Amino acid sequence: MLHIFCPHCGELRSEEEFHAKGQAHIPRPLDPGACTDEEWGDYMFFRDNPRGIHHELWVHAAGCRQYFNATRHTVTYEILETYKIGEKPSVTSAEKKPAAQPAVAKA
Ligand SMILES: [Zn+2]
Repeated sequence: MLHIFCPHCGELRSEEEFHAKGQAHIPRPLDPGACTDEEWGDYMFFRDNPRGIHHELWVHAAGCRQYFNATRHTVTYEILETYKIGEKPSVTSAEKKPAAQPAVAKA
C-alpha cells in the first residue's frame, strides 16, 4: 500500500484517504473578461501531460480535508514531495530530467 505524506497532518497516511485533483500551479487570468475564447479555453480545459515530473493538486479527503500540492513522477508514480498551497516545489523538472537518449546508430 502506498503512503502519502500530508503536509497539514504532518504524517504519512494511506493512499485511500487522498484524491488527485489535477495539475497544480495554474494561474487564473487576471482579467477573464479580456481573454479571447482560445485563452479562456486553454485556462479551463487544457493541461500538461508530461512524461516525468508533474506538480499536482491533491486533497486529503478522508482526513483533514485540506488541499496541498504533490510532485509526482508520472513514469514511476513516485511522489517526490508534498507541500502546502502557496509554497514552491523544491523538486522541478530541470533537476530530474531523464538521462539523454542514446544516439541512433547510422547503418
Ligand atoms: Zn491531512
